[in-house]
Amino acid sequence: MRIAVIGAGAVGALIARELCRYEAEVLLFEREPDVGWGVTKANSGIVHAGFHDEPGTLRARFCVPGNSLFSGLAAELEISFRRTGAYVLAFSNEEFSTLKTLREQGEANGVPGLEIHGREEVLAREPRVNPEVRAGLWSPTVGITLPWELAIAAVENALENGLELHLGEPVTGIEVRGGKVQAVRTGAGRYPVDAVVNAAGLFADEVARMGGLDGLELHPRRGEYVLLDETTRDLVRAVLFPAPTEKSKGILVLPTVDGGLLLGPNAQDLPGEAKEATETTREGLEEVIAGAWRLVPELPLSQAIKTFAGLRPESPQKDFVLGEMGVKGFYQAAAMRSPGLTAAPAIANWLAREISLTYDLPAKSRFQPKRRGIPHPADLSEAEWEELVEKDPRWGRVVCFCNRVTEGEIVEAIRRGARTLDGIKFRTRAGFGQCQGGFCTDRILEILARELGKAPWEVTARGKGSEPVLGEVRP
Ligand SMILES: Cc1cc2nc3c(=O)[nH]c(=O)nc-3n(C[C@H](O)[C@H](O)[C@H](O)COP(=O)(O)OP(=O)(O)OC[C@H]3O[C@@H](n4cnc5c(N)ncnc54)[C@H](O)[C@@H]3O)c2cc1C
Repeated sequence: MRIAVIGAGAVGALIARELCRYEAEVLLFEREPDVGWGVTKANSGIVHAGFHDEPGTLRARFCVPGNSLFSGLAAELEISFRRTGAYVLAFSNEEFSTLKTLREQGEANGVPGLEIHGREEVLAREPRVNPEVRAGLWSPTVGITLPWELAIAAVENALENGLELHLGEPVTGIEVRGGKVQAVRTGAGRYPVDAVVNAAGLFADEVARMGGLDGLELHPRRGEYVLLDETTRDLVRAVLFPAPTEKSKGILVLPTVDGGLLLGPNAQDLPGEAKEATETTREGLEEVIAGAWRLVPELPLSQAIKTFAGLRPESPQKDFVLGEMGVKGFYQAAAMRSPGLTAAPAIANWLAREISLTYDLPAKSRFQPKRRGIPHPADLSEAEWEELVEKDPRWGRVVCFCNRVTEGEIVEAIRRGARTLDGIKFRTRAGFGQCQGGFCTDRILEILARELGKAPWEVTARGKGSEPVLGEVRP
């Protein structure tokens, strides 16, 4: 049995890893040069509790179990994850009744621990919240994570368990004969397979059409963000939501796992063809700042270090599209709007099990679930760091001073598959700090060139056409 998973975002990566638990050949195709560079790269990174989703939807069905799988998954894959809890804040009578609706909805979905707190308790726990707050819905199971790290870690672990990874190789065609999947095609060749899983994010509609399925329509809904640096670490402890609107969960203020604060996202619908429109806009950022100030009035915008935007894959049915559809062997894991990241572990378990039952796949006896993260000296004790340096002095050479990332980590990231500046950034956080790479980019570029045996001008930021260095000034 051979299965092709199309798309190495959080969803495809976890599905590929789960499929590796069974006796099957698993191939993962990704059009980008690295893992987790699609929707997974730019979002809020919240592990939602599941009270925002209407009972009966696939979002509700998979969000709550996805949330509870996160603690175990984070330990197994050694990724960043912290349960911060969350408040949904109400500033009016109308918003107060929304809190009650969300609590009922959450309880119907099986969300544990939901409580409505009065103004005093909210302000005692979160003193920076706007004092005009009336009440807050407290949800203790909400957490924060690094979505791309999840995708990277899942793929690393899947590789140890036999995955065949094809990066920079977009699937261009799917052969179907007699109502059954036969093969996938890419620019590099034809791969006979018995089943495909469409986890192509914003492009899942195009991939569905390759298999002859016309029913899936996706358009991007852009969400813009402002990131504040780690000096804002103590301002807010939990994820702060406003009362949600019809269209989105609203503009939030939330802590990041690196210690900064993230403000956003807004929600702008874009035409179907605008699937690369990740630019930010002046009006959008103004909307984000106004929304964040409504929750926490004294946010120090002078500490802003980055603005960015992500694109939600929205479908008319406003729900995930999951399971075998229309063609034998064609499985969808599509239309993964929020809470797609949270739901991904539960969807991956369910889909891999569905496939294993349909094709009668025995479990692999030698599946190894554990993946070791790259050690980060900033998180180690002095003694542990010294031990690393004694074995290899490169672990003592700090390259990114903002996030205290060493040469040892960068070399290890390259050993694990990083080939670009972004590949290093997403694996080690070098260039993610206050100076956003202003001081370390040239040094990382040198290390990449040295380790890969390339000239510096052949090293790219994120694939062909993004080379930061043009060539020698003086030969
Ligand atoms: C603004 C915003 C905020 C969000 N906040 C949250 C949140 O806080 N919590 C939460 O749970 N969810 C959140 N989400 C949703 C979550 O980010 C997504 O559900 C999740 O990242 C989707 O992952 P994916 O793997 O389906 O898609 P992607 O990450 O896009 O992965 C799909 C991959 O397929 C690849 N691909 C496309 N076409 C092809 C092809 N032909 N061949 C090979 N590869 C191909 C792409 O390059 C991409 O890497 C948010 C989304 C956005 C945009």
